[in-house]
Amino acid sequence: MRLLLVEDDAMLGAALRTGLRQDGHAVDWVRSADEADTAWIAAGKAAAYDAVVLDLGLPDGSGLDLLKRARQRRLATPVLIATARDRVADRIAGLDAGADDYMVKPVDLDELAARLRAVERRVAGRADPTIVIGDIAIDPATRSVMRGDQPVDLTARELAVLLALARRPGVTVSREQLVEALYGWEESIESNAIDVHIHNLRRKLGADAIDTQRGLGWRLAGGRR
Ligand code: CA
Repeated sequence: MRLLLVEDDAMLGAALRTGLRQDGHAVDWVRSADEADTAWIAAGKAAAYDAVVLDLGLPDGSGLDLLKRARQRRLATPVLIATARDRVADRIAGLDAGADDYMVKPVDLDELAARLRAVERRVAGRADPTIVIGDIAIDPATRSVMRGDQPVDLTARELAVLLALARRPGVTVSREQLVEALYGWEESIESNAIDVHIHNLRRKLGADAIDTQRGLGWRLAGGRR
């Protein structure tokens, strides 16, 4: 997923960004309400974040106000609040302002990752943790992939590409969309990186698993074996 991380604490922000990246997410990290507003709310639907991890106490404003503003602008981006404010009244206020989930610091990275997976399932309208496309089954929690009854061993990046395709089954996903899903602002991208990942995915999953739409992008076909 492409995530916007809003966190003013330098050490915690860096740790969360590292952990979320290791979990295969693209992370853009901002440290103030103003920056978050620019990246997310002012950008509107063009921002294309799959979820926002939101601290409430920011140096130049409140994360809660940010959230309320996003919802007023009809931005449906899932928001997971991660804050030191642990009172029940704060949790209720956060959820009622439009947050999808609420975590109290200290944040456990594995729990945050699991909560993001749950948010993603809800957005996709899926109850089953396993994503099934044709004869391809992906379990994002264990990072295991099966084609039919054969386990397929993928790198973290390959899995991220596969998940980005699996989020839009049967739909052609462009190179730009894949880059957006995979890489944060501060990550450099080799110009042919996406092609290399797709090539490796087709080699490992079978060439019929992914359709190439020349000039447009790729589509997870899922095969019909
Ligand atoms: Ca803070």
